[in-house]
Amino acid sequence: MKHSNKNTKFKHNIAIIPGDGIGPEVISASLKVIKKALKIENVYIKEKQYPWGSNYFKKYNQMMPKNGLDKLKQHDAIFFGAVGDKNIDDDITLWGLRLEICQNLDQFANIRPSKYIEGIDTPLNINIAKNIDWIIVRENSEGEYAGSGGIIHKNLPLEVGSELAIFTREGCRRIHEYAFKLALSRPRKNLTLITKSNAQRHGMKLWDKIFYEVKEKYPTVKVNKLLVDAATAVMVNSPEKLDVVVATNLHADILSDLASALTGSLGIGATANISTNKNFPSMFEPIHGSAFDIVGKNIANPIGAIWSGVLMLKHLGEHKAADRIYNAIKIYAKNKGPFTPDLGGKAKTEDVVNKLLSILD
Ligand code: ATP
Repeated sequence: MKHSNKNTKFKHNIAIIPGDGIGPEVISASLKVIKKALKIENVYIKEKQYPWGSNYFKKYNQMMPKNGLDKLKQHDAIFFGAVGDKNIDDDITLWGLRLEICQNLDQFANIRPSKYIEGIDTPLNINIAKNIDWIIVRENSEGEYAGSGGIIHKNLPLEVGSELAIFTREGCRRIHEYAFKLALSRPRKNLTLITKSNAQRHGMKLWDKIFYEVKEKYPTVKVNKLLVDAATAVMVNSPEKLDVVVATNLHADILSDLASALTGSLGIGATANISTNKNFPSMFEPIHGSAFDIVGKNIANPIGAIWSGVLMLKHLGEHKAADRIYNAIKIYAKNKGPFTPDLGGKAKTEDVVNKLLSILD
């Protein structure tokens, strides 16, 4: 899609949803780095900011307007901050904005890269940590977060809450297919299936069965199956055993927070919510949440959001700008930052941005 005004040619039309908590801080920080890298390549983006989220909810009793999805469909990609507010129930904020977008724009593949970056301290022994180079592929449209269930006999002694995990043949097929293709594109061509089919004998059995059906089409991909509980130990003790990992909505949610912590901080994890429907934009966001404890202190680590920007630029075909930013992050880390407090430093968010901008110069 090409967009232009009288003087400037805009190549990509991006929807920006800073959202809640530290979202606005890390998004504005990231945009400076993204735009600088693009400018070096003589590429410009048209951006439209949408003030949706918890403050919007407090005014209008909805997290985004009714025609919000139609507005988003006009964009090439969505760059998202965080959602969540201390005074509003999490399920309202999450379902009202982030999941509303993911579900309705059919962003079924949630991609979460995790890589050891030299210079960033990790809780692991360095000789173990340096083997972390994973991509977690999270099923993002059904499973445990399908939203199926309900409450009956509300507020009575026999009150019942049910939460139904939904696994469909097509939902499993498309995420496994995505994971196999991704594994095939990587040097090690290794794919690990995360499951819990020993205890959950229905939906998770289907999840496993379809994985092995899809595998038939990818004979050169080496596969391995791990129970989710065992996977946590492998991530900590033998990270070299993992490459691409495919997991359900809930399992991958938990494993990817562990992955971020093992590579240094929740503040550096990045995510892409991919829709393969050409009419729907994909969405890019840091994996962290609103981080209420540090809002407004200018100490939020922007690396997770910036790395999400790298994923967005790759998705848009801007590989040179994406590689420039990723290399700048590596140089920044190798030279010991300056780091924000989550990585053991004293830097402010803007110090990180300024350092990255100077490396890009
Ligand atoms: P959610 O459920 O929305 O994922 P959460 O409550 O699990 O959110 P976060 O809001 O991400 O978790 O915060 C968890 C911890 O990690 C907090 O102590 C927070 O300060 C820290 N944290 C998260 N993101 C960052 C960041 N970008 N920079 C520094 N610290 C961060």
